[in-house]
Amino acid sequence: MSDCLFCKICEGQIPAAITFRDEEVVAFKDINPKAPFHQLVIPIRHVSSLATADAKDAALLGKLMLLGARLARESGQADGGFRVVMNAGADAGQTVLHVHLHVLAGRVLGWPPG
Ligand code: 5GP
Ligand code: ZN
Repeated sequence: MSDCLFCKICEGQIPAAITFRDEEVVAFKDINPKAPFHQLVIPIRHVSSLATADAKDAALLGKLMLLGARLARESGQADGGFRVVMNAGADAGQTVLHVHLHVLAGRVLGWPPG
């Protein structure tokens, strides 16, 4: 989508600290990290929100989860623990309407979330 921030990151129109890319997904460091380790994992294909995703997105969404875990593991964050979060909708705090998985680690993460 031409006016989507994360599509523009995928296309290289907006710079980002990219940590992984293949033909389907991109991972990059969050510009405003909420933990010492905070990366976003997104599909290259524009999917607006988990709230509107459907069965055709199942494999892609699963891939985001597994890549998030792999990035945490390969960064040495899996032993202490990490969290994956996908905000869906305004009340949950979704500000970018392109599905993204937050991967957070590097400190004790409070529960329940705010
Ligand atoms: P949301 O609030 O939609 O769940 O998460 C959006 C995330 O995108 C936020 O954590 C925010 O810091 C991050 N973000 C917003 N704009 C940019 C940007 O231009 N570059 C990067 N790397 N992250 C961004
Ligand atoms: Zn997009």
